[in-house]
Amino acid sequence: MTDGERGERNSPNHAQLRRLPAIDKLLRNPATATMIDQYGHDLVRDALRIALDAAREWIGTGGGAPSAGALLNAAETWLRNHHTPSLRPVINATGVIIHTNLGRAPLADFAQEAMIAVAAGYSTLEYELEAGKRGKRDVHAEQVVMAVTGAEAALVVNNNAAAVMLILAELAKDREVIISRGQLVEIGGGFRMPDVMARSGAKLVEIGTTNRTRIEDYEAAITPQAALLLRVHASNFKQIGFTAQPDLESMAKVAHKQNILAVDDLGSGALLDTASFGLQHEPTVQESLQAGFDLVAFSGDKLLGGPQAGIIVGREPLITRLKKHPLARAFRIDKLCLAGLVATLELYHRHEATKAIPVWRMISMSKRVIRERAEAWATEIASLAEVEVVEAQSAIGGGSLPGETLPTLALALKVGGRADEILGRLRQANTPVIARIANNQVLLDPRTVLPGQDEALVNALKSILSA
Ligand SMILES: *Cc1c(COP(=O)(O)O)cnc(C)c1O
Repeated sequence: MTDGERGERNSPNHAQLRRLPAIDKLLRNPATATMIDQYGHDLVRDALRIALDAAREWIGTGGGAPSAGALLNAAETWLRNHHTPSLRPVINATGVIIHTNLGRAPLADFAQEAMIAVAAGYSTLEYELEAGKRGKRDVHAEQVVMAVTGAEAALVVNNNAAAVMLILAELAKDREVIISRGQLVEIGGGFRMPDVMARSGAKLVEIGTTNRTRIEDYEAAITPQAALLLRVHASNFKQIGFTAQPDLESMAKVAHKQNILAVDDLGSGALLDTASFGLQHEPTVQESLQAGFDLVAFSGDKLLGGPQAGIIVGREPLITRLKKHPLARAFRIDKLCLAGLVATLELYHRHEATKAIPVWRMISMSKRVIRERAEAWATEIASLAEVEVVEAQSAIGGGSLPGETLPTLALALKVGGRADEILGRLRQANTPVIARIANNQVLLDPRTVLPGQDEALVNALKSILSA
């Protein structure tokens, strides 16, 4: 026995130290079983050890021995803080449908099933069953993309930024790309189209002014060094007032008259007409192709409602060139997103998109359904807080239909000065709930809360409001 231990034994804290339960006893505590289910035996033992060490330190400073319950709580807090993945599901009650920070488009069941099937085992990713030899990843999405867009050829890559980069690197390296000053957009996360273009080796030629570009500006800018004119859809901002951009047909005509290409970075990639859902018209992929654009690039996870992907459609000889570029290999889509994308596109092909794809289901959700859900939540928590179902606006969000909103009904929690606090505590729920504040009230919009999440949302509200 060392002097230190002898000292401890004689100290007045000794009795408190002896009251600490043994680690094995804590591990056998029935309350520990659920923790072990969730985190595994060894991690729970580590957590209990840490809790016991902290308790000994506390006793050393003159504190009393914590109860078994307090030790288990401390262990659970440590486990939650250190072993909960930072990437995890949340409930989106913001009413922003394509919420970039919350993972953009939620997937259709059909797409989820396709991804799980490919994730769980081996697949025909690059294998031809008939010939029994190596196949190409490219073939899986091609047919269905062509079928739903009417394009002559298609290529799918990792995301739309990669799609645009690949197009410019192959078709405009060391040559000029003509773009309107009104379209030099930042797409978020600090990524600016001019920087993406510069990295591709293309030389940017800006034309027109911020608010107005005419077809004559394009005509005048085309020199023998020009490779293509690029239209970038203003997908995350809106210009109003004295503005002008030429129509797509004129742009394609001017390009082709002078033997250069017309390329459209469409951004959100609507395949359905948003106008038939009471929204402004978002340019569709089909329109750009019909206008004569040679290539059109768009995202898989915005209005299309699928997984992350960049889709390029257009003329076959150009697509063939893109496939051979080394960047096509660097930018290739992974097998899970590919499976999910093909399944999502198949839903368009079968004309089931509006009822099966969550993004379109949310856009077309009736006010009656929204009201019923908001009222059901209100009934559940009426005894705990002052609540009201109020008129509000849902947003399309993330690089699609900037500023466009849909009238909705939201549950309002009238919590006075506590709105920020409640919002923060909702974020700490087991399944975090992301809401918003308007007029000092916490607003929860049923439109973006997925079917099956109502119970978790109500439970979170109950536990926070009753605390
Ligand atoms: C969103 C967007 C991009 C980037 O697409 P990602 O799929 O996020 O890479 C590029 N251009 C425009 C116009 C966009 O709206």
